[in-house]
Amino acid sequence: MLGQMMTQPLLISSLIDHAERYHGQTEVISVETDGMVTETNWAEVAQNARRLGSALTQLGLQPQDRVGTLAWNNRRHLEIYFGVSGAGFVCHTINPRLFPEQLTYIINHAKDRVLLFDATFLPLVAGLQEHLTEVEHFVMMGPRSDEALSQVPNVKFYDELVATGDSEFEWPDLDENTASSLCYTSGTTGNPKGVLYSHRSTLLHSFGSNTRDVIGFSAMDVVMPVVPMFHVNAWGSPYACAMSGSRMVLPGPGLHGEALVNLVDTYGVTLALGVPTIWQGLLAHAAKSGSRLTSLVRTVIGGAACPPSMIETFRETYGVDTVHAWGMSEMSPLGTTNFPLAKHRDLPIDDQHKLRESQGRPPYGVELKIVDDDGNALPQDGETQGDLMVRGHWVLDSYFQMQDEDLLDNGWFATGDVATLDPDGYMTIRDRSKDIIKSGGEWISSVELENIAVAHPKLATAAVVGVEHPKWGERPILVAVKAEGEDPDEPELLGFFEGKIASWQVPDKVVFVEALPLNATGKVLKRTLREDFKDTLMG
Ligand code: ADP
Repeated sequence: MLGQMMTQPLLISSLIDHAERYHGQTEVISVETDGMVTETNWAEVAQNARRLGSALTQLGLQPQDRVGTLAWNNRRHLEIYFGVSGAGFVCHTINPRLFPEQLTYIINHAKDRVLLFDATFLPLVAGLQEHLTEVEHFVMMGPRSDEALSQVPNVKFYDELVATGDSEFEWPDLDENTASSLCYTSGTTGNPKGVLYSHRSTLLHSFGSNTRDVIGFSAMDVVMPVVPMFHVNAWGSPYACAMSGSRMVLPGPGLHGEALVNLVDTYGVTLALGVPTIWQGLLAHAAKSGSRLTSLVRTVIGGAACPPSMIETFRETYGVDTVHAWGMSEMSPLGTTNFPLAKHRDLPIDDQHKLRESQGRPPYGVELKIVDDDGNALPQDGETQGDLMVRGHWVLDSYFQMQDEDLLDNGWFATGDVATLDPDGYMTIRDRSKDIIKSGGEWISSVELENIAVAHPKLATAAVVGVEHPKWGERPILVAVKAEGEDPDEPELLGFFEGKIASWQVPDKVVFVEALPLNATGKVLKRTLREDFKDTLMG
């Protein structure tokens, strides 16, 4: 025997144990479903997590049974994350904004035996209950309520359930490859598909995200995940924050600009995470209210392309560094984050800013490559674009209960994104492969056009989609939402593209809408826009 290091399984229970032991008094602020703010801490979260794990075990759940949640970002949901996975069950977070048919499909497909839900979703659950054939226990996340009992007979109440549990409950000693959590992609095409994370992949993802050039949560941070806990586990922030002992501010159901600005200012949020649409609201309210967002040091923005103008506003007006990040459910989700390299330190400041606009480079643990239609690797020259492929420690191997021998291509997962990679690994998403516009044999990136359009001061937001064209096959149109009190016209908006891109890439038309259709995770539904405006250029 030459000697040996310890082997300890990488388990989610060890994260909450750590947070309890070393950061027990560190606060977790939670906005409840009724808008009230409560304050707890990691020690109490840990205690309730163990109680919940024990109570679910007493209910007769078996290892690996799925426990569904329909819930906002709040303290009970945080307890559930650790209590369910820690006790050896699978925490299945469900996106409540999906259509009822999709919810029914997902809950039945996952065979959730328990469904935990926030009071907000009582009417939803009441309507769905007869279709949820696998659910044995409906549990409303709160105290006893007669209203709930009248709508969902036999409903249990989280606070009572947790009270029956044992706070000395011992976490089971699991194999680190045991499944811990489940999340379905929003299924823009076909039925939603489940991505099943393991304890090991979650822990490695947490270690990865806690490195300095990824997100690097710290015990000095006050972290506000605006990205929902039902959207790829709030990008893994609950786990990573337990690991680092960060304070957390969980914003509950109110995600409009005013509520978020108030939370930032009241609780001194230093680091916040979310999709671009969320920050549009926050920036608009900060401008209106005069808040300086003084405490905020960093925002991590991803899930959809972050327009350079947003990065600039955060930097120039509020002194906030925006980290552009890219990922997907199939990657837990972190794939790339944008931080500079040492050699960039001496670049002129404008070049440094330019560099921060792309989606960034992969951390250790994720590898990227781009390929052509035949799967041949393409050069990483920052210019050539191709289908983006990934592999790594926290990348999906197969979907939950779906056999698909061809899912991986020699061990690489096809992301469905079209991207360029430069020699340092900086990746720029050109488009989703289904959103890219093919005009007369040339490709136009809708993302590039949108980035220009949203910088126009008279627009609140905008999207670009390709629609049918008699001569060019497809041409881009700009779907625009006017900023409050502004009334821009088409020539003015189209003129804004001049000199910024080749003239043949400028959209053919502008259509004004009151609001953009968003999917359940706050991303623009381009499919709907293509459908709505499909004949716009057909004369
Ligand atoms: P869904 O497919 O339901 O939107 P995901 O949340 O997993 O599910 O979305 C992943 C996709 O979101 C990526 O494949 C990519 O197309 C897009 N995306 C994520 N982050 C970015 C980003 N920073 N820039 C551009 N696109 C992004």
